[in-house]
Amino acid sequence: MSSQKLFLFDFDGVIVDGMNEYWHSSLLTFEKFLNCPNILIDQDLYKKVSNTFIEMRPWVKYGWEMLIIVHQIIKRKDPLNNQNKINFLNKYNQNCQKVLVENYWVADDLQKSLDNARKYQIDNNFDNWIKLHRPFYEVIDFIEKIKKNNIQTGIITTKGKIFAGKFLEKLNIFPELIFGYESGTKVEITSKLSREYEILGFIEDRRNTLIDIKQNSLTNNIPCYLADWGYLKSIDRLNLPYEIKLLKLKSLENLLAI
Ligand SMILES: [Mg+2]
Repeated sequence: MSSQKLFLFDFDGVIVDGMNEYWHSSLLTFEKFLNCPNILIDQDLYKKVSNTFIEMRPWVKYGWEMLIIVHQIIKRKDPLNNQNKINFLNKYNQNCQKVLVENYWVADDLQKSLDNARKYQIDNNFDNWIKLHRPFYEVIDFIEKIKKNNIQTGIITTKGKIFAGKFLEKLNIFPELIFGYESGTKVEITSKLSREYEILGFIEDRRNTLIDIKQNSLTNNIPCYLADWGYLKSIDRLNLPYEIKLLKLKSLENLLAI
């Protein structure tokens, strides 16, 4: 008997554009859940997402890194801006670690604070929180279509599982599987899944995540698609290795023909 077919999706940048939500929730984290002497949260900051933040978002792997970037953009002394951001990005991981150390922060605690800011909004102003997200309706339609074809949907996100679930519920989408950062790395999750399911594809907007999948012997036969509509660095689209394919939003439908 053949195994159940499954299609895998990343969440942020693939199913939804949450740029407003990332900015808003990061500011709220500093306002309500973190003591931080170097910054002052002016309410005007909430009105418009910083362009520097938008341009740096493709480097983010975990949610807590967004707090680091927002902190560096809004701090009073030597803030990050479009002119100097390149220095930060050139050594992105080291610089994130440096900011952690400078502020006596621990990444896990930052992540928990961000989760708390999201929970706070869900409890107090759910509709407003939902409105900060912009779904990619072509992807939502595609998920509905694969369901009709008896293919299951799995979401693998680096945010908390509950937040992706809450948003999808609102859109009347109920994936069979949702995994958040609580479940381990994406390679670990897909390795386990590949034992039980026939995985037809994984759509993700982080190039290095797809490379990790392709370099792992348990998952290297999963067809991998880099979401062209997501948070990509311009060089991400070039010379994709390991048969990773660049996928355009308008070409999603073609995946069902395979
Ligand atoms: Mg993503």
